[in-house]
Amino acid sequence: VHELSVARHIVEIVTQVASDENSPRVSVIHLEIGELSCVATSALEFVFQAASAGTTAEGARLEFETIPIVVHCAACNEDVPLPSIQRFRCPICDRPTSKVVRGRELVVSRVEIEEAKTSADC
Ligand SMILES: [Zn+2]
Repeated sequence: VHELSVARHIVEIVTQVASDENSPRVSVIHLEIGELSCVATSALEFVFQAASAGTTAEGARLEFETIPIVVHCAACNEDVPLPSIQRFRCPICDRPTSKVVRGRELVVSRVEIEEAKTSADC
């Protein structure tokens, strides 16, 4: 289980974004998670709360987008979506393939932050 290191990494990224923008708080974090990344989103949400405590990312909402697995079939010379994770075969020609093009990613695709406070705060 590597969710905690993933959560720490996400916190590092988004707090950096917030500080670059001079924002007091991160509100929403959009994540793209490949079906092969082996990350349990519920576990990630749980450890994220701990990892973000006391940072500008505390209380931020996580939005997950699942990235389906796409493999490259050399025989068809095409990138094809894999219908099942149990079966690493090209859905067109049924040859075994293990060249994963997409589906392993775990990326922060977008970060929503609160506006920086203006000095006109009287
Ligand atoms: Zn094929």
